[in-house]
Amino acid sequence: MSAITLLDRRSGAASAPSPRKPAWIRVKAPTSQTFFATRRLLREKKLHTVCEEAACPNIGECWQERHATVMILGDVCTRACSFCNVKTGMPGPVDPDEPARVAELVVALGLAHVVITSVDRDDLDDGGASQFVRCIKAIRAASPATTIEVLTPDFRGKAGALEAVVAARPDVYNHNLETVPRLYRSVRPGARYFHSLRLLQRVKELDPTIFTKSGIMVGLGEEKEEVIQVMDDLRCADVDFLTIGQYLQPTPRHHPVVRFVEPAEFESYASIGRAKGFLLVAASPLTRSSYHAGADFARLKAARLATLDAPTSATA
Ligand code: SF4
Repeated sequence: MSAITLLDRRSGAASAPSPRKPAWIRVKAPTSQTFFATRRLLREKKLHTVCEEAACPNIGECWQERHATVMILGDVCTRACSFCNVKTGMPGPVDPDEPARVAELVVALGLAHVVITSVDRDDLDDGGASQFVRCIKAIRAASPATTIEVLTPDFRGKAGALEAVVAARPDVYNHNLETVPRLYRSVRPGARYFHSLRLLQRVKELDPTIFTKSGIMVGLGEEKEEVIQVMDDLRCADVDFLTIGQYLQPTPRHHPVVRFVEPAEFESYASIGRAKGFLLVAASPLTRSSYHAGADFARLKAARLATLDAPTSATA
């Protein structure tokens, strides 16, 4: 067991310092015109992104490609996970014009594939599910060719919430497990590992045509065997796509980085995951659940087609 100091984000207690970032984590500061144009458009539409709120290291690269992950339902979360940079508190009312502005943004950016996520809204009766549905409908109406990926909270099991989002038929349903079950109490205290797994399984049961996706961060103190167990659990829930990326500490008050996982170890996770039957595994230090999401969606479709085309072994 490592000697890290675990912390309570609300207490403001300082955590143990993270080790120095290795060379493979460093990214360049954004400078391109397209990056600033994307930012201007987001401000104009009064939309939040997880790219900024989570202090994502890929923001320069993604926004240069006009790929931003929209975070709906405000910028205040009702939970306080120790890895997450989003503000915690009591969020404001749901904005009824937000779905229209999200659709306008998709059109203005000319997105072939969009990722929509949200803060946790445990204060709402449906956990915010109906706003996801409104966003999906608004995007479909404004830009029918755009494929839609949702990255939802667990809705705290609220009746009908998950079912409503699935019925709106996003192309990809993502829900991140974030870490291994042993670390839930310190990393994701407001959530339950098996509840999240069951949510992913239920999406597939309700609509097997929707691709399911989940992700974890490594470097939080997990053991390799625990990561492999998570892979097995996700395959049991019939999840198609797994993302694994390095956890980075957003501020000294957040959970420390226990270890920087080397690129070769990510490659090893990717090959183990593929051998376990995921259609796709993205594993690298800078992998995030929405990183290269458009290109990965095309790869997912191709992988499913290849599976369907594969000859079945002859039986005697
Ligand atoms: S990886 Fe995702 S969260 Fe990070 S900048 Fe790219 S789109 Fe935004």
